[in-house]
Amino acid sequence: MADKKNRNGEFWELALERAHLGVWDWDLRTGDCFYSAMWSQMLGYGQGELAETSDLWLQLTHPDDRERAVASGERHIAGLTESIETELRLKHKSGHWVWVLDRGGVVERDAEGRPLRLMGVQTDITKQKQAEAQLEQVNVRFRLALAASGTGIWHHDLAARKSYWDQRTREIFGLVAETDEVSQDLWHSYLHPDDRADAERAHLAPLQTQKVVAVQYRIIKRDGEIRHVESLIRLIADAQSSGQILGTVRDITEAKQREQELAHAAHHDALTGLLNRAAFDRLLAEHIATARPLAIFYVDLDYFKALNDFAGHAAGDLALKSVAKRIQGCLLPSVHAARLGGDEFALLVPDCDAAQAERLAGAVLAAVRDADIGSTAASRKLAASIGIAFVADENTAVADALACADDACYAAKAAGRNRFAVFSPETTSGSSGLNAARLAADTVDAMEDGRLKLFGQEIHRLGTPLQESRHVEVLARLAGRNGRLIPPGEFIPAAERFGIASRLDRWIIRTALSLHGPALKSGALTLGFNLSAQTLSDPQLWDFVDAVIDETGAPHAGIGFEITETAAVTNFTAAEQFVRKARERRCRVSLDDFGAGMSSFEYLRRFPVDAIKIDGSFIEHIAESRFDREIVSAISGIARSLGCSVVAERIEEQASLDILRGMGVAFGQGFLLHRPEPLQAIVARASAQAALPAGRRA
Ligand code: C2E
Ligand code: CA
Ligand code: CA
Repeated sequence: MADKKNRNGEFWELALERAHLGVWDWDLRTGDCFYSAMWSQMLGYGQGELAETSDLWLQLTHPDDRERAVASGERHIAGLTESIETELRLKHKSGHWVWVLDRGGVVERDAEGRPLRLMGVQTDITKQKQAEAQLEQVNVRFRLALAASGTGIWHHDLAARKSYWDQRTREIFGLVAETDEVSQDLWHSYLHPDDRADAERAHLAPLQTQKVVAVQYRIIKRDGEIRHVESLIRLIADAQSSGQILGTVRDITEAKQREQELAHAAHHDALTGLLNRAAFDRLLAEHIATARPLAIFYVDLDYFKALNDFAGHAAGDLALKSVAKRIQGCLLPSVHAARLGGDEFALLVPDCDAAQAERLAGAVLAAVRDADIGSTAASRKLAASIGIAFVADENTAVADALACADDACYAAKAAGRNRFAVFSPETTSGSSGLNAARLAADTVDAMEDGRLKLFGQEIHRLGTPLQESRHVEVLARLAGRNGRLIPPGEFIPAAERFGIASRLDRWIIRTALSLHGPALKSGALTLGFNLSAQTLSDPQLWDFVDAVIDETGAPHAGIGFEITETAAVTNFTAAEQFVRKARERRCRVSLDDFGAGMSSFEYLRRFPVDAIKIDGSFIEHIAESRFDREIVSAISGIARSLGCSVVAERIEEQASLDILRGMGVAFGQGFLLHRPEPLQAIVARASAQAALPAGRRA
């Protein structure tokens, strides 16, 4: 401990210097003012650099602060204040301003108590001022951000059990009040019953944790409006009291709505409001994983493309919307409906057995038929083809499950549309199954859009000259969507499997007779039509043919039909009747592909046909194969004995032709004689020939 008497002037000087305090000492009687070295130093001046006038400090004071500084001194001198205490800026030697805190007061008075001398200290508080300014800036920004975000601030004083809501908080809750203080129960009275427990728990959570707690909940305003709000809450503990719970509150109703809309848009088709493909796939994967049996419906609209083309896209959109609405209307809540794109829809039907699936398919078909397609196309009705696949194996891939339903849908389309078909692995498995279904469906489309073409191949009398025969076999060709000509060997079997062969044959007959009726009538040529087994057993076939003949004026005698041996055998009664009716009308009938089954001689007696066409497989190698020669010879012998003509198919080489001629086979067909070409061209040529005088015919 230093000795008391040592605390002299030097001691105080040292202390003031260490504390960075500048001292001033103002004698009111003389007007002199002393400034300590520290004071000058604070402003960047050395000893003796400043003139020690009484108003030196005032000269150095910032103009904006002068009035306040002077007033503070005057008030004290006048006895109005205990002491002088003011903040002011003084000019530093280098030109910048130094913030100082000035504290002082009267230290000497005369007998009457009038002040004689004042002393004070000034401290550099620039740093503190800067910090304050920064804090203020942060504050301003914070308030701005709060205002911009529409965030309300509230707090609850735990000790006083009082709550305070700022203006914005009150606005959010729709509370009309002048003061911030609200009753502590008020908040609870706004809580939505479903969110009450969570919200209350969240508001108490800060008592247990240091962290900020966030909670979203709904409030019901006094007018009944429900709003979503979000609060951030934390405990502000302080030494004196048990603390406050401080919180924000923000109305997030619009954001919530947008969020929900976005979520909806991500999972739904914008036009129809049904699930979209991605959402359906996800849902399907989830359902398959549960291993509970379910059915998938693949619904493809028929005639929709035509509707879109003829009535426009607006009508198309209207139809899609209406279809979606009506389909939805006949579904149980457990069924999920999706639009997969274009005019394709899908349903996911949980716990569905065959009978339920059938009923639902019927309802969906009816719903589509009833769909509103607008006035432009009012006369037309929409229809749908539905493919149904059942899934019970949890290992099924979503894509496979959908492909099966799609496959069945093609089958429904091929079978004539406006119907449903159930996927069965037996009929559609393997790669060809799917292709066949597509091909059959495409064939149906081709009939509508002109891609099904009529070709023909002449059948020649094998005598000389060859050209005398004018009989032409009509052959169908399918122009694929890529332009490739698909041979009937590919699409006829598919058409037969999906039950559209009969439609196809009718289309060929009607089209050929409509186009070439006059040529047939003129006798320029005769046409032979191939008939599938299905056509053969079609009880209305002759009504149809008669009607077409009536319409087109084509003579019965100018028309022939080719039925295959296999078709005849499998539909024996139908074939018999067909041949009888054909004979009544004097239409020619040929037994096609004869010999391929080798069971045929017996049938030859039962079917009084006009001609048999020896299957090409016996003809193509006839020059090399003795066996083939013997078969052909035998067949033609029997045929002749029964009084029917013989046609040899697939004559490709001159050698074959010579052999057949030698055997006395009267008619032939094959690339050597004539390659199939568009029927139109053949008819044009034949008509031109027929018009020539008999002697000049080639
Ligand atoms: P098909 O009745 O035996 O017809 C003869 C087939 O042999 C035709 O094939 C013809 O192009 C082909 N051909 C003709 N000459 C030769 C030759 O010298 N060499 C070879 N290798 N082939 C020759 P295409 O047009 O491919 O028809 C195949 C089958 O499709 C036809 O056999 C017929 O059964 C069926 N078909 C064709 N058009 C129709 C139709 O409109 N309706 C029905 N139901 N079936 C049809
Ligand atoms: Ca044929
Ligand atoms: Ca044939």
